[in-house]
Amino acid sequence: NTGLNPARFKYQIEELEGLVEAAEGVVLGKVYQKRESPDPAYYIGRGKVNEIKQLVEGIGADTVVFNVNLSPVQISNLSQEINAQILDRTDLILQIFFKRAKTKQAKLQVELAYLQHQLPRVYNQKGKELSRIGGGMKTKGAGEKLGEIKTRAIKDRINKIKKELKEIEKQKKQQRKTREDNPNILNVALVGYTNAGKSSLLNRLTKRDTYISDQLFATLDTKTSFIHFPDINKRVIITDTVGFVEDMPQEIMDAFMTTLKETEEADLILHVIDISDDNWMLKKQTVEDVLKKLKLEEKPVINVMNKVDKVIPSQEYLEPDESENTITVSATKGWNIDKLFDILKKYAIKKGEEYGKLRI
Ligand code: GDP
Repeated sequence: NTGLNPARFKYQIEELEGLVEAAEGVVLGKVYQKRESPDPAYYIGRGKVNEIKQLVEGIGADTVVFNVNLSPVQISNLSQEINAQILDRTDLILQIFFKRAKTKQAKLQVELAYLQHQLPRVYNQKGKELSRIGGGMKTKGAGEKLGEIKTRAIKDRINKIKKELKEIEKQKKQQRKTREDNPNILNVALVGYTNAGKSSLLNRLTKRDTYISDQLFATLDTKTSFIHFPDINKRVIITDTVGFVEDMPQEIMDAFMTTLKETEEADLILHVIDISDDNWMLKKQTVEDVLKKLKLEEKPVINVMNKVDKVIPSQEYLEPDESENTITVSATKGWNIDKLFDILKKYAIKKGEEYGKLRI
């Protein structure tokens, strides 16, 4: 930490703890350091390295997470000093996404981001392997060769993944075309911070009596769900997107662009917000900034203020929502979900009407 204000710092630490939990880890201890500038070899100072080393041994931790991005040299040096797996912030986020990726496309995208993040580290391992394998003798470039082989293997895999992703994108584009042009189908994209409750909401919305299995959509991946309103002959297709995190690493931004792009075709965006989180306003801003970057700020957005059951004791305490684009719900308890259905219905009807106008 160099000169962050205390509130911002506290928020960052809480966020990191949340990310560790999301990766199914348990926080056993925390170490802080204030420095003017990072140490090129270890990021932290040598004294801190020793402190962490001892702490890790004392409490039996198997992983040390740094809330920054470490250079390949730093990762390699820290791994040699500390007897635990060293993860930087991007590694941690990749682990979470890896666990949560459900579709083939998402899995490939995470793998791509992971490989791109690993590539410079493999280059850097050369020196280490060279000395280890060579053992001081002049086994000219044995380690270097290994580094080269590994690098080539990773690059080959990256190219293969990129090709596969292109193919999937092509297919998806075709599928979307059929949906987009349909006045009876409302396309909804679910966005929000990791852990805000997107999956819970999606489950709640789609596990209804009105849900009817339909062959037409059998080819869609599992992350796309739909609701059928037979009374108005409309369908709503809801696509879950990746969860947002603070300072999304560039590798992930690039790799997930295609998933986020699906939001481009959306008629409506549901932004799920965890209002029981002290930092919900900052997180909301993070998501809005990303949407802006993707030039999606013009789309209609409904802010779904979730987890209200953690803030009020029972449903009777729910107050009317102040604006049309905000709705307070509890995805797990089902509070106000009917109201959200009504909003979706309204938008579905509106789309049909506007489409009709365009045709005339
Ligand atoms: P996602 O990462 O946005 O998909 O979030 P999840 O749907 O996986 O939810 C993250 C955690 O929050 C899970 O443990 C959920 O059970 C919990 N959760 C989601 N919605 C609610 C809610 O309305 N109330 C409460 N109390 N917990 C919720």
